[in-house]
Order: sequence, then C-alpha cells, then structure tokens
Amino acid sequence: MHPDPLPTLQRVFGFPQFRGVQSEVVSRVLERERTLAVMPTGAGKSLCYQLPAVMNEGTCIVVSPLIALMHDQLRGAEAVGIRAATLTSADENRGETLRRFRAGALDLLYVAPERASGQAFRDLLTEAPLCLFAIDEAHCVSEWGHDFRPDYRLLSPLMDAFPDVPRLALTATADAHTRADIAKQLGIPADGMIVSGFDRPNIRYSISAKANVNRQIADLIAATPGPGIVYAQTRAATEKLAEALGRSGRPTRAYHAGLEPHIRAKNQADFVASEDMVICATVAFGMGIDKPDVRFVAHAGLPKSIEAYYQETGRAGRDGDPSVAHLFWGADDFARARQRIGEVEPERQAGERTRLQSLAALVETAGCRRRILLRHFGEDPAEDCGNCDNCLGSPDAVDATETARKFLSAVFRTGQMFGAGYIEEVLTGQSTERSLMNGHEKLSVWNIVEGDETALLKPVARALLLRDAIRSNPHGGLEFGPAARGILKGETAVSLIVPPKRERRRRGVAPA
Ligand code: ADP
Ligand code: ZN
Repeated sequence: MHPDPLPTLQRVFGFPQFRGVQSEVVSRVLERERTLAVMPTGAGKSLCYQLPAVMNEGTCIVVSPLIALMHDQLRGAEAVGIRAATLTSADENRGETLRRFRAGALDLLYVAPERASGQAFRDLLTEAPLCLFAIDEAHCVSEWGHDFRPDYRLLSPLMDAFPDVPRLALTATADAHTRADIAKQLGIPADGMIVSGFDRPNIRYSISAKANVNRQIADLIAATPGPGIVYAQTRAATEKLAEALGRSGRPTRAYHAGLEPHIRAKNQADFVASEDMVICATVAFGMGIDKPDVRFVAHAGLPKSIEAYYQETGRAGRDGDPSVAHLFWGADDFARARQRIGEVEPERQAGERTRLQSLAALVETAGCRRRILLRHFGEDPAEDCGNCDNCLGSPDAVDATETARKFLSAVFRTGQMFGAGYIEEVLTGQSTERSLMNGHEKLSVWNIVEGDETALLKPVARALLLRDAIRSNPHGGLEFGPAARGILKGETAVSLIVPPKRERRRRGVAPA
C-alpha cells in the first residue's frame, strides 16, 4: 500500500480534494504501475505527476513537446514550492540544473523529446535516482494522433533502460484507436489506461457557415461579455481580425509567432489579466495558459481536426461557468484541407482523410453537436445535450433520406467497390470510359439524381460514413456498414443541414 496522497494535495497544492480521475491516476503511479491517463484539457493532468514527484524520493522526468509549455509548467510548479527545472536549448542555467539533479535536489526535470532521446541524457539519468517518467502530450508518439513527433518514438527505448521506474503518459486528445497505439508505443498495458469523461457541459457549441465572418464574430462578441479567444488560420488574418474587431470598442489584441517576443508576451499577459479582452490568435496561443474565465472561443475557419477543435474550445470555461464555442467554416476550408492531405506522405493520407471526414460530420450534422464530439472520444451519451445550437434552435435541416437511399443503392448495384466520386458520376449519369466498360450505364440507378439534389450527394456520403451506413475500404471503395439496412428499408431518416452554397439565411449567434 502506498501512503495517502491527500495530505500532500492539501498542503502543497492547496486543493481540498482530487478532481475526477486524478486520485485513480495518482494511486496507480504511487503503486508504480505503468499508466496512460486520458483527460480533457483543464482536467488537471499536471497534478497527476507533480504530486507523486513531491511525495517520492528521486526526480520525475517530464517530457513535453514545447519549450513555452515547459516554462509555463515550471512557473506553476515553482509557485507552489516544487523543486523543478527545465533542460532546453533556451536555458542558460544548464550547469546549475545538472548540479541540482545530481544532488537529488529536483522533484521535476522537464525536457524536450529530442534531448531526452540522446545518449548524453541517458547517461545523466544513471547519476541520480528517478521516481517517474511522465510523458506529456503523449499522442505525439502515435502516427494516428493529430500531432505526430518522431522523437517521441525514442522515449520507449530510453524508459526501457530504466525498467524499475514507473511511467505515466498523459494526453487530452485521443480517440480509442490512438489511445491503444499510445499504450503500445510506450509499453503501457491495456489495463493501465484511465479515461476520464470528456464532456464539458458548461460549453455551448455552435457551428455556422461563414457569411461575412468578421461581422459574425463581431455579433458574437457583442452578445458575449468577458474575455475571449478568436482563432484565425494565418498571422495576417489574426491582425486583420484584431483591427476589425477592435472597432467594436472591446480591447482587442493579436497574438502569433511572428510578433516581437516582448509584444507577444505583453499581449498574452494583458489577456490573462483582463476581464473583457478579445485576443485574435493562431493556434499557437492557449497551450499552457491558465485562464479559467475565458467566456468564448471562436474559430474563424476550420480547425485541424476534432481533437484540435475539442482542445481549442476546451480553453473556454475552465471555471465551470457558462461559455460559448462558435465555429465559422467555409467550403473553401475543406478544399484547402483536402489539398493539404494530398501533400502529406502517402501512408498517412487515409488517416488524415478520416480525420477530415469526422470534422465534416460534426459541421454538417443537424443533430446534437456534443453527441458527435463525445462519440468521437468513445463516449455514448444517452440523450441530446440541450446546450448546442442544434439542440436549442431548429437548424436549417433538409430531409435527405431519399437521396441517401439512392446513394446506397448505387453503392450496392456497382458492387461495393467504388469511391464516392464514382458513385456520384453514376447517380448523375456522367458517362465515362469506366462507366461504359463496367456496364453501369444500364443500371436502374444510372442518372437518377439531378438539379438541386446533386448538391446533397457529398453531404449525404459524409452523413452515411458518419452513421456507419457505409465504410471506406483500404482502397477507397465504399461498402455497406451495419446502418445501411435501416436506411434502405426506410426505417431510419437522414436529415442534413443545407449545404453552404444554398444557405440563404445566416444562422443566429447563441447568446451566452
Ligand atoms: P490540463 O493539463 O489537464 O489541461 P492543468 O494541469 O493545467 O490541466 O490544470 C488545470 C487547472 O485545474 C489548473 O488551474 C489547476 O491548478 C487546476 N486543478 C488541478 N487539480 C485540481 C484539483 N484537484 N482541485 C482544484 N483545481 C485543480
Ligand atoms: Zn446538443
């Protein structure tokens, strides 16, 4: 049995009790069991290794992917009196840090993965006792994750050299598939996984098609008092937005990696201190920033993935008070994303495509947004949330059941081996050498979709993929999934948000 961590939690960190799965994770670590903790942003992951590091003899090695993140963590740890240091290229006190480590005078030593994987570091670790390896942002180890870092692959051999030191991997952003991969890559047993609930009930999710996005965001800001973050995709866009939104009278700043470091630091500090500032930022902003009262997070364009969306919106409402996440997207965002997928290594394209499809499903659904988000993280809520745009108002949904049935029939009649593009050609009767050779022009499904219905084919394909009515095989061909039958038999309806081209009316902004 390990000693009770509660007194240390209260004395060192000043928290009366553990939150969520923290106590489970800490217990496992104190039992020296290898563990993967999957906890949403804001759930308090750092405490899960900081607390054991304080309680145990020896240093906890923390691997973290970003220097800025490490320095924030360092400040936080030092503020509660934990003996901590970072070992990065940006540190000038290297000699001092090494001396403290060798003397056993460090609870935490933060390092970047590229340093951690070198021989010099491995040698260093033999010189003083260790109590734990903590791998932060552990999804970086998986090619399935959204942020693969090859250096993370070298951590397992390093940890293997110290078989008696327990391991704790932490991540906020992993679907079931990625989780299993992380555990495998880091030598954590399947039963060593602790997954906390992902719901953030105080965040209201809204998603709208762009139609003059500056105006839309200005409306959102006007309706939502308190500090907020607006994510834009480029540095130039953050500055333009900041200028446009600044005219509303709310204090507004830009934040991106191209700003002079002192300006960036000042903008960030001002934002953290402010009660009504809007910061227009690239996604570089927010990691490691501990501001509990962010009232809204807006996206002026499509995020990279559902994981990224969840993490970025998760910066709203850490204090538990009502908050708003509003995403504005355009069809051009999807086109750009597809183009980018074409540029990544071939073996990663299928994964990237699936990721984009999940995002499309979230954007296009007429159903509860939170359910889609939570399902993505492996949870299956029994009911609609009542706190997203689709639950609250009736979205501009159209009944696409008939189109969906046509689509499924075409998949079936062509032998469940062709991709969505070809199915579309068949349904709209676009004669090609392939359709001729296959004899598909004689099928009953040839040329049965025309006019406005054509615009529904792509969203219908995505909706069917989302519902597991069709599945993409490794060669890109579509085949039936378990939900196909109900739709074909007319037992299940398929409704969709009207595609953006035809959306006439801008959807209103949900008030906080
Ligand atoms: P994560 O890394 O999971 O996003 P952090 O470790 O940054 O989350 O913690 C988020 C916030 O929650 C911090 O302000 C932290 O001080 C606070 N926190 C962590 N554990 C507790 C707890 N047991 N009780 C109250 N607040 C906590
Ligand atoms: Zn909902």
